[in-house]
Parts: sequence; C-alpha cells; structure tokens
Amino acid sequence: MADTIYDVVIIGGGPAGYTAAIRAGQYGLKVALIEEGEKLGGTCLHWGCIPTKSLLFNAEVLDHMKHAKEYGIEGVGELKVNWPAVLKRKNDIVTKHTKGLDFLMRKNKVTVVKGRGSLTGPAKDGIHTVEVVTAGDKKTAQQLKTKNVALATGSDARMLPGLKPDSTIMTNIEVLSMTEVPKSMIVIGAGAVGVEFGSIFKTFGSDITILEYLPKMVPNEDDEIGKELARLYRKRGIETNVGARVDKVEKTKTGAKVTYTNAEGKQVVKDAEKVLVAVGRSPRTENVGIEKTKIKVERGFVHVNEWMQTEEPGIYAIGDIVAGLPQLAHVGAMCGIVAMSKIAGKPARPVRRDRIPACTYCEPQIGSVGLTEAMAKEKGYTVKVGKFPFSANSKASIVDSHDGFVKVVSDAKYGEILGVHIIGPSATELIAEAVTAIELEATIDEMMFIVHAHPTLAEAMLDGFGSVENMAINV
Ligand code: NAD
Repeated sequence: MADTIYDVVIIGGGPAGYTAAIRAGQYGLKVALIEEGEKLGGTCLHWGCIPTKSLLFNAEVLDHMKHAKEYGIEGVGELKVNWPAVLKRKNDIVTKHTKGLDFLMRKNKVTVVKGRGSLTGPAKDGIHTVEVVTAGDKKTAQQLKTKNVALATGSDARMLPGLKPDSTIMTNIEVLSMTEVPKSMIVIGAGAVGVEFGSIFKTFGSDITILEYLPKMVPNEDDEIGKELARLYRKRGIETNVGARVDKVEKTKTGAKVTYTNAEGKQVVKDAEKVLVAVGRSPRTENVGIEKTKIKVERGFVHVNEWMQTEEPGIYAIGDIVAGLPQLAHVGAMCGIVAMSKIAGKPARPVRRDRIPACTYCEPQIGSVGLTEAMAKEKGYTVKVGKFPFSANSKASIVDSHDGFVKVVSDAKYGEILGVHIIGPSATELIAEAVTAIELEATIDEMMFIVHAHPTLAEAMLDGFGSVENMAINV
C-alpha cells in the first residue's frame, strides 16, 4: 500500500463517503475509504435514518392493529409491545445493510482502511498525504498518498450546555438502546429528530411532551405544515409547547425534570422518565488537520464551491460538514457523486439548495421541496398557492389516513412551481414527483395534464397542482 498513489482518498464512511467511494469505483478511479468506526454506514445506518424508520414501521403496524376491529379483523387480543423483539428486528436490518455495504465496497474495488484519517497539509507535487491512525493498544500510523481527498467526517448530536448524554438524558444514539418503552419522555427540539421520536414513542405508549424554542413546530417547514402538525399531534395527545426556552435539565430519582419558560413567559417544571435532546447536529471538523490547509471553515462547517471543492486544491468536502446545505443523508450522497464526477472529469450537475427534498417520518409524514410560501414572498415572487386536503382523496380513505394536505406554491406570472409541501399519508414518497417537476422546471399548466393512476394517493398531487388554478377535481 505504501507505494500506491490513489486517485481519491475519502475520510469517513457514512452515506456521503461510501456513496462517493462507490461512484469513484464505478468511474474506475483508484479509491480508498477511511473509517474510524467498526463498521461502515455512519449515523444514517447505525443511529439515524435506518434504525429510526425501522421503529417507525413497528409503530405503524401497531397503529393499524389498534383499529383491527374497525377493519373487520377479529381475534387480535390485547396488544403488547415486545420491546426487545422490536430492537432485534431493527438490529437485524442494520446488520443486513452493513454487510451490504461491505459487499458494495468489494464489488467496486474500494480499499477500506480502518483508522482515523487526517490531512497533513497541502499537496506536494500534486500528491496529498493522508495520515491514518488506528485506535486501541496497538496504535499504528500509516500514510496514504493520493491525488485528491474528500472529507466526509459527518456530525455529532448537539447537547445543551453542561449536559452529557446518558441513559436518562439522551441523544438520538442512547434513545435507540433504551431497555424498555418509557412511561414518559420530554423531547427538546421539534425538528426532524424530535418530532419523529415523539411520534414513534407516543404510538408505543409513552406520554410525550415536546418543547421547541422557536414559535412553531418543524420550523424549517412551511408555516401551515407546522400548524397542521401541532394540531394533529394535539389530537394524538402529544403535548406541544412552542416558544419554550429550556432553563434547566436535572436528574431526579425517577428520571429527570426540565424547567422551561413557556411562550407566555411563565416558568414551568415538568418531570419525565426520559429526556431526549434533539437540538441539531455539529459538524466533525476538529482534529482532522483542516488547520494545516487553506480550507475555509465557517462556524465549524466547511466552505465549498458548487463542485464541493474547498479552498485547498485537490481537497473536497461532502456531507454534514458542508456549509449552506442541509444535513441529510441524501444530500451527502449526492454531494459525493458530484465530487467524484468532477475528479473523474465526467459531466455533473451541482446540488441546488432549492431542489432538495426534506422528509420527516412522523405521523402524519411531511415531505417538502423548494420555497415555502413565506420564502417565496420574501424573494419578491407574486405567489399563487393551491391546497388540496387528503380528506378528499379516495385512496386516503381506503388507507384510513385522511389528515393533512398538499400545498403548492407557484409563481403567478409564469406558473413556475416554486415549492411543494405535503403533510399526510406517504408524504415522504409523494414528494418525489414534486422534486422531479421542480428539477425539470415544470409549470402548473403542464402538471395539470399529467395522468395519475386512480385510486392513488398520488392523485392528491394532481389535485394539488390543479388547486392553484382553483381547478382541483375532487373538492
Ligand atoms: P434540527 O436542527 O432539525 O431541529 C432542532 C430543533 O431544536 C430546532 O427546531 C431548534 O429551534 C430547536 N432547538 C434548538 N435549541 C433548543 C433549545 N435549547 N430548546 C428547545 N428547542 C431548541 O435538528 P435535529 O432534529 O436534531 O436533527 C439534526 C439533523 O439531522 C437535521 O439536519 C435534520 O434535518 C437531520 N435529520 C433528518 C431526518 C430526516 O430527514 N427524516 C431525521 C432526523 C434528523
């Protein structure tokens, strides 16, 4: 390995890093992927997207079974959650996909190097040196030579000042290894992590209280989505407090108590068995040698151009560490693909902020892309909005899920679709059509003539586009 000169060395084996490695292999580049953890897959596979959506599936099945009688199914008996079995299924899914990644690395001739990778400075005669140190008693160091480097080191869950995560005050990691379903949980933060876990554990039987600092739930989403989610969570018995400032989180004999100041300025103390802190993620950009290079870092995030190139020639950054892009697995993966295309000299298209789908897997789900109504107005568009409720969609009745709506934000002048915001059944799947429509710069007039199969939830999209012109068929 000592004499090998790689085309690209990727530091970090999460979705950004492993996707980049696969694409580099497909292009015939000589590629090494450095991972300090035991397994490839990163937060997404081990503590994020995959395990949480596995739990969500159990929760969905349980929700359906609660209505078994209504659906004409007898003999179900008393429902009980076997938590260890739920966790086992989740772990089996993670293990299966971890093995799948190992297979993909072999298939694409990616050299996987175990250890912590770091930059050593600028390239010499066009060749970078990346140092890899293994942890543990038998600490070893080796140096990899490469023409290009991609930093894909990911992010860590942020904690509130003065707190350390443990089995009572948890982040998204500890919450996945609780030994039983807690009686009560306070969730701090109503972003994706907060509302997803709040939703899942409510279904499993926990009392859930959500505390959000900003004045609305899922603050990155369109205002109407946040309002609808708050309304539907209240209907499910989830307590939501927006405009809530957390003052203190303390351990008690039975769990923890959170002191917060509510939107009316009143201090409230709330007890629970568990507290989940879901207040965002910090980029892992320390101790990777960035300071030895010209790479520009803004509040911990790496500055890149549209091709994911940093200020240091030959060094790219992809994934959760990138400034100005959302910290999402699918964004990281596409950034990796773009960077590798650039290195291979192949055609590519930059990742555009306004064409990225955001999917939140709560109940009901949220899927959105493009500008919110408020953002579009702020940008100076004359906005024309349409809204179609799932209560008027026949498939939504069939699947017993008619809460929510499809909201379409368009430019009144040319009918350009600026944003689509869905809350309701399969919203995270339905949004794909809107992403394609926006990517291909489709107009409302064009989308109103796209044939949608009947009966489908996707018909709500057709009616959503039609509602912009007040011409939805089903309302
Ligand atoms: P987030 O940034 O999405 O949400 C954090 C929320 O916490 C914000 O609404 C913020 O206003 C609030 N907050 C911050 N400090 C607070 C405080 N002291 N008290 C009360 N509220 C406070 O972060 P997250 O939900 O932790 O998720 C982390 C990242 O992972 C995000 O980029 C998210 O999009 C991503 N993620 C995505 C998915 C998905 O795509 N389905 C799922 C989970 C996480």
